[in-house]
Amino acid sequence: MTSLAAVRETLANTPVWDDGAWAGLPRLDGDAVADVCVVGLGGSGLSCVAELRRLGASVVGVDAGMVAGGAAGRNGGFLLAGAARFHHAAVEAYGRARALAIYRLTLAEIDRIAAETPGAVRRTGSLRIAACAEEVDDCRRQLAAMREDGLPVEWYEGAEGQGLLVRSDAAFDPLLRCRLLARSEVTAGARLFEHSPAVELAPGTVRTPAGRVRCDRVIVAVDGGLERLVPALAGRVRTARLQMVATAPLPEVRYPRPVYRRYGYEWWQQLPDGRIALGGFRDRGGEAEWTHDAEPCDAVQRLICGFLRGTLGIDAPITHRWAASVSYTDDGLPVLAEVEPGLWACGAYSGHGNTIGAICGRAAAQLAVTGASELSGPFTPDP
Ligand SMILES: Cc1cc2nc3c(=O)[nH]c(=O)nc-3n(C[C@H](O)[C@H](O)[C@H](O)COP(=O)(O)OP(=O)(O)OC[C@H]3O[C@@H](n4cnc5c(N)ncnc54)[C@H](O)[C@@H]3O)c2cc1C
Repeated sequence: MTSLAAVRETLANTPVWDDGAWAGLPRLDGDAVADVCVVGLGGSGLSCVAELRRLGASVVGVDAGMVAGGAAGRNGGFLLAGAARFHHAAVEAYGRARALAIYRLTLAEIDRIAAETPGAVRRTGSLRIAACAEEVDDCRRQLAAMREDGLPVEWYEGAEGQGLLVRSDAAFDPLLRCRLLARSEVTAGARLFEHSPAVELAPGTVRTPAGRVRCDRVIVAVDGGLERLVPALAGRVRTARLQMVATAPLPEVRYPRPVYRRYGYEWWQQLPDGRIALGGFRDRGGEAEWTHDAEPCDAVQRLICGFLRGTLGIDAPITHRWAASVSYTDDGLPVLAEVEPGLWACGAYSGHGNTIGAICGRAAAQLAVTGASELSGPFTPDP
């Protein structure tokens, strides 16, 4: 059993992805003018910036902290296709056409992300592993629904357990991808600023403590805490904390591909250097995990550690513990909306934003600049 002192000792809240090799970006000082101001430079905001530039818009992007300092650089590193709900559940909730449209968009987005930042992505596939007999049945229902729609999936039985293998999924280093994207956008002419929180947001103006951006349109691309930044979304969006640990490298490869277990409440992958990055147990943390606090807490860290030692049988020392905020909607669909004229918001990916967030960021850019998007249909109400 891990002692409380040992838990606290590694509560520095640094993700395994952070190698410390980031030179940083300047703070916004003074006034700037742009066609569009993007608030939030995680994976979604950076995809939005890239799309805006591709469309010929001038862009200023601001982040409260560092590039990908939120969930985008602190997550499990799974690039999964589909909605936050498994495909059969998505079909049931949203209808077959809409669920399939989401799945197809995400398949294409994983390919795009891999092509855009190949150094950060591994085409490993992913496993969904059942934690009980009832979940085996659920996996079978997912298999049937995906096969019916011609989506890539196989039944899997192996060392990890029983469930599904999705070869089109991938694993990635989320922080490296964001840093690569930010660098290439700055090189291409986007003006991106760190440590510049938007303290006042209105169509046409974004204020930061030391500066102001005047722009035609504002796009807020923030997941955790979205409802605080855009209070109009308060009834629809709820923020929660997700937590992870990483171990010292294992000498052998135990997990060639990322594993999603117990309906996705636990997830882990083995990194190329042999480390295990494992997270989950938000549900077992109870009401306390519906919080804006993004520090690891003892209760959930103990559960993750118990699973690592007990169920996975891994005794390598824990080297990293971290947490971050994400936000959820009741229906599991993201927010992609013009909340008032000239002010767009995207976020609330229900714990599943690496792929869909990139799509929504790009869709928001297209909608804000051209008024239409080939990506937005399944994410906007009643398409
Ligand atoms: C532990 C964990 C594991 C996860 N695992 C996975 C996974 O394996 N696969 C998956 O698909 N999803 C996963 N997710 C969810 C995924 O990480 C997020 O949905 C996604 O990264 C959201 O990215 P984003 O760019 O939309 O938002 P964020 O990462 O929230 O980025 C928003 C940015 O906005 C900035 N910001 C906030 N407020 C302001 C302000 N006032 N002014 C300016 N900037 C501001 C923040 O500093 C931040 O950098 C996980 C999340 C967590 C926490």
